[in-house]
Amino acid sequence: MSHVDWESCPRCESKKVVIRGKFYFFFIILAVIAALNFLALLFIPLFFLSIPLLFLSPLAFFLPKIKQCLDCKNTWRFNKNTNKQSVEQL
Ligand SMILES: [Zn+2]
Repeated sequence: MSHVDWESCPRCESKKVVIRGKFYFFFIILAVIAALNFLALLFIPLFFLSIPLLFLSPLAFFLPKIKQCLDCKNTWRFNKNTNKQSVEQL
């Protein structure tokens, strides 16, 4: 994190900017699956909704990095061209 050239929020100029990467999306999907399974205890068809999500969860690793402002919740694309980690996947 500390190696990244810091950038302030384009909307509110806040310096409280965090990078949301692949694991962030992956855990969001896992959290949704967990919530659906919990609700499935009350309403069983919800369990079947969680199955396609389970297959979708590896796709989170192909999502681009985004930056999020902690003050205004604004999100924008991580577009640092010199970033070696952004592999051309398409
Ligand atoms: Zn902001």
